[in-house]
Amino acid sequence: MKRIAILGSTGSIGVQALDICARHPEEYRVVALTAKSSREKLFDQVRRFRPEMAGLVDGIPMKEIPDDLRFCRWMSGAEALRAAAAQVEADQVLVAIVGIAGLQSVMDALGAGRQVLLANKEALVTGGHLVTDLAARMGKPLLPVDSEHSAIFQCLQAAGPNRPKRILLTASGGPFRTWKKEDIQRATRAQALRHPNWAMGAKITVDSASMFNKGLEIMEARWLFDMPAERIQVVIHPESILHSAVEFEDGAVLGQMGAPDMRVPIGYAMAYPRRETTGVAGPDLFALGKMTFEAPDEEKFPSLRMAKEALAAGGAACTVLNGANEEAVAAFLREEIPFGEIYARVARALDRLAGLPADTLEDIFEADRLARRAGKEE
Ligand code: NAD
Ligand code: MG
Repeated sequence: MKRIAILGSTGSIGVQALDICARHPEEYRVVALTAKSSREKLFDQVRRFRPEMAGLVDGIPMKEIPDDLRFCRWMSGAEALRAAAAQVEADQVLVAIVGIAGLQSVMDALGAGRQVLLANKEALVTGGHLVTDLAARMGKPLLPVDSEHSAIFQCLQAAGPNRPKRILLTASGGPFRTWKKEDIQRATRAQALRHPNWAMGAKITVDSASMFNKGLEIMEARWLFDMPAERIQVVIHPESILHSAVEFEDGAVLGQMGAPDMRVPIGYAMAYPRRETTGVAGPDLFALGKMTFEAPDEEKFPSLRMAKEALAAGGAACTVLNGANEEAVAAFLREEIPFGEIYARVARALDRLAGLPADTLEDIFEADRLARRAGKEE
């Protein structure tokens, strides 16, 4: 029986992970659940999965906790995240919170010797060197949950001692793949949230539309697989069936395919190294008919170029890109700025702040603070 703590349990990834726990009650015991502010949803989850600890980051007074839910320890604020990541006895910690907020939790969980199942790519984007160092020192390599990185990880399992020559990182291209650049600049919130293949949280859905998500995923792959950005090729694949692939010296390419359903990579990380049922069927290749591939258009989606430049610049440049993007996306979701302004704000933040250091967690949080300020400015 694996004891699992889920940070961000009310989100898209968290809910799907609980779905797998419910499917395999003999395999998983849910020991901690946290959310930012969705109390009713968290109450329902606590009622159903009966964890030892539950927490709301935005806080909850004891008197507002329903009587039947007082069997578990309730916590508020950053303490709740820390307890779920590192204090509650767990074999696995699924970090499924969104944004740089995940970095501290990943470090806490690793520091406590936990196996981290990583959905939160922003932790690697901002603190990749610190996270991977700590994971190596603790002998607890990260298990990726992001579908592309899970695919790459699965291919590498099949590759034995052979190191890949290149990573082929697939991308659906998002809802604006076939749009003209001028139209993308003016896209609305509703249009950006209409992802063709995946149902995900709002922030990552907007990132998929801008392709900042793929930029963040290049950074994530760089740290997870110790692969220089020059050897990570983004491949647009609108059907989202091939979830990524690796190429070897001999010209062979291994890829991982499946329906676009996050329960497969979540379940793989949870059950690793076994495979178990997830409720997902394999893709219907006859119905699919064909798979297509295109080169990415960096003119239309400058996010990819900005991401590669930030990686090359090193220091806190990736943190700056991420922080400015988080704030710009939040402003776009509040319908305060047009879509094109996301690119403009990230570019301005990088121009001003890319040279900041990222030697320590404090450096990274300071760079993030400055980048967010820049990301809020007109
Ligand atoms: P979501 O918005 O649906 O859920 C986020 C969860 O984190 C919620 O439970 C929320 O309460 C909690 N949360 C939000 N802000 C927080 C904060 N500041 N502190 C603590 N908790 C907070 O997000 P999601 O789509 O599930 O994505 C979660 C992470 O997984 C992101 O980093 C995303 O990039 C990554 N990811 C998601 C998908 C997907 O299919 N949804 C796929 C790949 C990677
Ligand atoms: Mg992904």
